Amino acid sequence: RIRLEHLEKGFDGVPVLRGIDFDDDVTTLAVIGPSGGGKSTLLRIVGGLIAPTGGTVEVDGERVDYDERALPSYRSQLGFVFQASGLFHHLSALENVALPLSVVHGVPEDQARERAADLLARFGLAAEEAKRPAQLSGGQQQRVAIARAVAASPKMLLLDEPTSALDPEYTNDVLDLIRDLKETGTRFIVVTHEMGFARRACDKVAFLHGGRLLEYGESARLFDHPATPELQRFLGKLL
Ligand code: ATP
Ligand code: MG
Repeated sequence: RIRLEHLEKGFDGVPVLRGIDFDDDVTTLAVIGPSGGGKSTLLRIVGGLIAPTGGTVEVDGERVDYDERALPSYRSQLGFVFQASGLFHHLSALENVALPLSVVHGVPEDQARERAADLLARFGLAAEEAKRPAQLSGGQQQRVAIARAVAASPKMLLLDEPTSALDPEYTNDVLDLIRDLKETGTRFIVVTHEMGFARRACDKVAFLHGGRLLEYGESARLFDHPATPELQRFLGKLL
């Protein structure tokens, strides 16, 4: 369960999140909205990458402590996927997935490699194990990045526009993979501009606009019956 209480964030005194309240038992959540609305900022705060300037975040009944000393252990329970895959360029696909498992999570090396190989196979990358990121397509790199993010069974996966840097022909592979994660019960929050994907892969959708949570609800309801003029406009349904 995710609970945000009057969450605020400003950069140099400029408000970016203007008091976000949220309380729901989300499994799959899409965050949508126009550029600059605060989507990435919100995701980074929930992920413990930056601290809010006001308000609180609670995950499964535990309040996130934004003290620098407390954050690493919080972050290590989560999985992150960003626009650019952020893979280690000098390591193979297999090592990219296995290394954090052994270094960050203390899984013995042979078990980490075994788990990495299983995941890569599940993600259709068995033949790519030994390749370095530069030898993979953008879509393959992003699938390796997702494998790395889910390898340690995070309690939640946070994805920020995981397909926006990809050529269209690779986008669906990655989106299908994220959708499959839903079937396996992986909880995730994804910032996305892919509305069809948001609707199909996510139970709930949050619409952020100008630092405010303007609409939230079941994805079908939100897309079929946007209540605010802002969302109507965003979805191209001008009144
Ligand atoms: P996009 O769809 O373009 O990714 P977004 O909804 O993710 O947009 P954010 O990245 O959260 O938007 O940014 C919201 C606002 O906060 C923007 O006006 C941005 O310039 C500002 N902002 C974000 N990060 C910083 C930072 N580190 N320092 C100063 N301003 C920032
Ligand atoms: Mg963003």
